[in-house]
Amino acid sequence: MKLLSVRNVGKSFGGVRANDSVSFDLNEGELLALIGPNGAGKSTLFNMINGQLRADTGSILFRGQELVGLRPREIWALGVGRTFQVAHPFNSMTAVQNVQVALMSRDRNIFNFWRRGTGYCRDEAMALLGSVSLEDQCDKPCSHMAYGDVKRLELAVALAHKPRLLLMDEPTAGMAPQERNELMARTKQLVNEYKVSVLFTEHSMDVIFAYSDRMVVLARGRLIAAGTPAEMRGDSRVQEVYLGAGNTFAESLG
Ligand code: ADP
Ligand code: MG
Repeated sequence: MKLLSVRNVGKSFGGVRANDSVSFDLNEGELLALIGPNGAGKSTLFNMINGQLRADTGSILFRGQELVGLRPREIWALGVGRTFQVAHPFNSMTAVQNVQVALMSRDRNIFNFWRRGTGYCRDEAMALLGSVSLEDQCDKPCSHMAYGDVKRLELAVALAHKPRLLLMDEPTAGMAPQERNELMARTKQLVNEYKVSVLFTEHSMDVIFAYSDRMVVLARGRLIAAGTPAEMRGDSRVQEVYLGAGNTFAESLG
């Protein structure tokens, strides 16, 4: 079943066509990679789906409902969660407090935290930390956590309101290869566990080929190809984009 349908979506910034009539579907339970060189329009598309930006043209249907024109908070409430390209938890708070704040936000109970101290939904918060293997760091302030651990915490925070669709813009940016693989393997596991679907951007072809169910390829704002990693492996349009950008696609073919 289709969870998200992007149809003829366009967005320009002055003379730059950041997205030019982009159309694709994301199916329920899918881990869909959105790929393309820098400046291809990936973040712009993410921001239109989550409501930070409004599409100039086209339609974005989430479970049949039009998202264009809705505010970010409304889209979030419908079940579209996100992680951020740059991790930004509340640094002075501990890992478990960050998840507790996310649970309060879900429950529209943000003021309770300050009134009732740190007990809010603690068991649920710990379970979420457990799902990303951070329970042993629960009382550590985020400012003291390793970068890769903060990214996993971000995943727990994003899952707190049980989104049906999770948008992850460059979740593995700044990570070492092994850490990248761990994060995406974990994400794949959570897709099954939490029945969430994922749209993510990623630069490492190894990661994309290892973990995505399908991929959608953007170049200069246009969708140039879409298919399974196996289908895309031999696609000359995709190779051209990556070879042209001096990227690592060719290495991944071997
Ligand atoms: P990607 O995430 O694939 O690297 P972006 O969506 O960030 O690509 O950018 C696509 C194009 O739109 C680029 O040419 C970029 O410079 C331009 N762009 C993105 N956001 C803005 C903005 N807020 N104002 C002006 N130009 C922008
Ligand atoms: Mg981007």
